[in-house]
Amino acid sequence: MSNEKKHAGLECCPLCGEKVDCALEHYDDDIYYHINCRRCGEYLISARADSASSEPSIKKQLHLISAVTRWNSDRQNVLFLKPSLFYDRAMFEAEILSMCPRNTQERMDHILQYLADKSLYP
Ligand SMILES: [Zn+2]
Repeated sequence: MSNEKKHAGLECCPLCGEKVDCALEHYDDDIYYHINCRRCGEYLISARADSASSEPSIKKQLHLISAVTRWNSDRQNVLFLKPSLFYDRAMFEAEILSMCPRNTQERMDHILQYLADKSLYP
């Protein structure tokens, strides 16, 4: 029996709290958690990013980051979430809010696109 701590990454998704598969990867002198989440899809988050101590207005909108990671993951585009995304409101607005539908028409378009993507028929 060993008391050695295993640095295997995260057990829960930092965006939604779901149990996840996680691997550690190195990119650009930073360590990233490579997350595969049932809700948020596949994405990478810097090990220095801390969603739990985010800027309060961003912390309330982690579900929007989840929606954007999911949207990209469904299109085989794996996003890198940097630490600044969780404390820099301007970056959050540029990278996340700009990707979210802003009115009913855009929401309907997203829902229809989602259904079309999931549909087995052309
Ligand atoms: Zn998740």
